[in-house]
Amino acid sequence: MSGAIDLGAFDATERLSADDLATHTEHQHLQAALAQQRAAAAKSPRAVPGTCSNCGGACLPQAVYCDEHCRADHHHRETVHARQHGASPRR
Ligand SMILES: [Zn+2]
Repeated sequence: MSGAIDLGAFDATERLSADDLATHTEHQHLQAALAQQRAAAAKSPRAVPGTCSNCGGACLPQAVYCDEHCRADHHHRETVHARQHGASPRR
């Protein structure tokens, strides 16, 4: 008799904790993905002042591209790369 009641209470508790766990895991996955993306962005040497980010050539001390063409080319490649890896910053 009391066993049936205990089972019911246990079932309800298990359900709640399972939901909670699922939400918690989802949140952790999201946080981990975000942290990984930030770390990757920080690691990639995409903007070194004085060096062109596209061709690697020397440019003005404060510039990261030697000209408009390199800027456009690099931006285009980054966009394509992001799209290929499903990590579009627009989504
Ligand atoms: Zn360049």
